[in-house]
Amino acid sequence: MEKIGIIGCGISGMTLAKKLREAGAAVEIFEKEKAPGGIARGFKAEGWQDSVEFFYHHWFQKDHDLLGLIEELGLKDRVKFRTPKTVMYHKGKFYPFDTIPAAIAYPGLGFGIHKVRFGLAGVYLKLTKNWQALEKVTAKEWMTKYAGEFAYKTMWEPMMLGKFGSEYADRVNMAWLWARIYSRTTSLGTFDGGMQDLYDIFAAKLKDAGVKIRFGAMVNAIEQADYGKFRLSGEGEQWSDFDKVIVTTSPQSMLGLCDALPEGYKSQLAELKHLGAVVLCVRLKQPLSPQGYYWYNLPKSEGYPFLALVEHTNFVPKERYNNETIIYAGDYLPRGHEYFSLSADELLKKLIPGFRKINPDFSEDWIIGASKFAADYAQPVPFINHSKAIPAMKTPIDGLYFVSMSQIYPWDRGMNFAVRWANQLAEQVLGNRE
Ligand SMILES: Cc1cc2nc3c(=O)[nH]c(=O)nc-3n(C[C@H](O)[C@H](O)[C@H](O)COP(=O)(O)OP(=O)(O)OC[C@H]3O[C@@H](n4cnc5c(N)ncnc54)[C@H](O)[C@@H]3O)c2cc1C
Repeated sequence: MEKIGIIGCGISGMTLAKKLREAGAAVEIFEKEKAPGGIARGFKAEGWQDSVEFFYHHWFQKDHDLLGLIEELGLKDRVKFRTPKTVMYHKGKFYPFDTIPAAIAYPGLGFGIHKVRFGLAGVYLKLTKNWQALEKVTAKEWMTKYAGEFAYKTMWEPMMLGKFGSEYADRVNMAWLWARIYSRTTSLGTFDGGMQDLYDIFAAKLKDAGVKIRFGAMVNAIEQADYGKFRLSGEGEQWSDFDKVIVTTSPQSMLGLCDALPEGYKSQLAELKHLGAVVLCVRLKQPLSPQGYYWYNLPKSEGYPFLALVEHTNFVPKERYNNETIIYAGDYLPRGHEYFSLSADELLKKLIPGFRKINPDFSEDWIIGASKFAADYAQPVPFINHSKAIPAMKTPIDGLYFVSMSQIYPWDRGMNFAVRWANQLAEQVLGNRE
C-alpha cells in the first residue's frame, strides 16, 4: 500500500486525503494547528449555537465542486443559501449593487453613456469564456478601454486598490477580474452550524476511513532518503517512509520546507506575490447597519480605515449567536503594515471611526468584545500572463507535490477551487493524469 503524507488539514488537504484513501493509499495528514479547516476555520463563543469563521466566508451557487463534495459527505441538507445585500458607496450613501436592476439604479455612473458602456462590458464578461485573451492585459487597461475611464475609476479602481494595494492594483490582469464577474452569484451559501462544523465532521469521517491526522504537528523539513522515500521533520520528531508527499501550504512555506528543490522551481515559487489579510471580528449588542446590509464595499479614498465591513448577522440570523450582532472589518494588506502588529483593542480604536461613518449612532457601549485574526498569505496577485508563471503541482522531485491558492487561476482563490484543484492533483498523484 502506498504511504502518502499530506501537509495541511485545510479543505485542500482533506479533499486530497479523501480521494487518495478511497483509492487505497495509506494517508497521514500533518497539521500545525489544533483543528482542521485551515484559513477558513472558525470559533464559537459561549452561548452561540453556530461558529463564525475567523475570516468572513460564503459560497456561491456555482461552487459545484465544493457543493458536490459536501453532498458526498452526506451533508447537503446543512448548506443554506440566502440573499443578503451587498452595497457600494456613492457620495456619502450606500446603494445595493448585487442584481442587474440594482446596478442600473446605482447613481455612481449616472444614467448616460458611462452606464451603457459599463453594462455592455459586464454583459460581455458574463458571456465570454476566453480568459486566455484577457490575461494578456491589465484589468485597468481593459476596463478603461471598454467600460470607459469613468466607470473604471468609479467602480473598479477602489476595489482593485483595496484588494491589491497601490503597489499591485494597476498590474493585476483582466482574467482575474473576469473570473470574479463570471463566477459570482447573488445568493450566498454557508453551512448550518458554521463552517467549522463541516471541517470537524470531514476530519472525523477521514479518521473513520483510516486516515491518520496529526494536529499540532508542524513540519519543518522534507527530505528524500537515498532509497527514494520521504522523511518529514517536526519539532523534535520525525516521520519516515512516505512514498509521496503533498504540500498544501503557501509558496513561501514550501520554499522553506524543501531545500532539495531545483533552483528553477524555487525561483518560480519566490516570484509569486501575495497580500496578507487582517480582520477584526466584533461582537455587538445591537446591529450596526441601519438598513440591514450584509456587505459594504468601502472606498479608502473616503477615509474608511478598512476595505470591507461585513455584518455577518445580516446573513446568518443573530438568534444563532445569542442575539448578538457580529461584524467583521477586513482588509488585504502587505506584511509589515501596522495592523498586523496591533492588538485587537488597538485595532478596534483605529476602526471605530469607520463604524461611525456607517452608522453615526454607533456607540462604544454596543461592543461586547473583539477578536483579531491575521494571515500573511491571503490573496495571491496574478500579473500579466500569470498562467505561464504558475509552478506545476508535480514538482521536479519525483513523488513531491505542491498545491496552493497561488496555483488556482484564472479563478480567485476560494474553497470551491481548492476542492477542484485537490481533486485534479489526486488524479495526478494516482497516476491517472499528467
Ligand atoms: C480573508 C479571506 C476571505 C476568504 N473568503 C472566502 C470566501 O468567502 N469563500 C471561499 O470559498 N473562500 C474564501 N477564502 C479562500 C479560502 O479560505 C481558501 O481558498 C481555502 O481555505 C484554502 O484552503 P487550503 O486547504 O488550500 O489552504 P489553507 O486553508 O491555508 O490550509 C493549509 C493548512 O496547512 C497548515 N500548515 C501550514 N504550514 C504548515 C506546516 N509547516 N506544517 C503543518 N501544517 C502546516 C495550515 O495551518 C493550514 O491549516 C478566503 C480567504 C481569505 C484569506
